[in-house]
Amino acid sequence: MTQITPRSFTIDHTTLQAGVYYQGATRITRLAKVHHYDLRFKTPSEREFMEPRVLHTIEHLFAYLLREDRKNKVVKPEHVVDIHVYGCKTGFGLILSRQYTERQLVKELQATTLEAIEMLKENMFPGMTEKECGNPYLRNGQGAIAELKKFLKVLDVMQAQHHKANVVRDNKN
Ligand SMILES: [Zn+2]
Repeated sequence: MTQITPRSFTIDHTTLQAGVYYQGATRITRLAKVHHYDLRFKTPSEREFMEPRVLHTIEHLFAYLLREDRKNKVVKPEHVVDIHVYGCKTGFGLILSRQYTERQLVKELQATTLEAIEMLKENMFPGMTEKECGNPYLRNGQGAIAELKKFLKVLDVMQAQHHKANVVRDNKN
């Protein structure tokens, strides 16, 4: 039997910056693939991590909002397979059934993050009842808002980088 190395073990976390990254695809059947994205809230080398209540709260908000059918959706809800927390508490893994560009993901996450902040301000915690969740009181709305605001800044930096990359490309043409 051959050992398959988990995808994340092959990433150099000493140089990894907070951001949104396409990690690649896993073939499920001859015809179907899933696509992995890294929603990295924290730069691992800075040794600052999210606390479990914040991580759990954001997980629920993103799980709900990425599947919400609102106007101007970039990532279609039916393409969302799974979102999960990283045990190292630096971010989330997102699995989609279609490939989107990092630029598209950033756009989607900007809207999702803003929406999440609004919901938390209204004390809305989707899926966090005893029936729906294994630990519904593991939550921290204010902490999650603070973390989401930091993530918005990360997304702004990514958007600016994509924009710059485009300008360079345009100048070369
Ligand atoms: Zn839960």
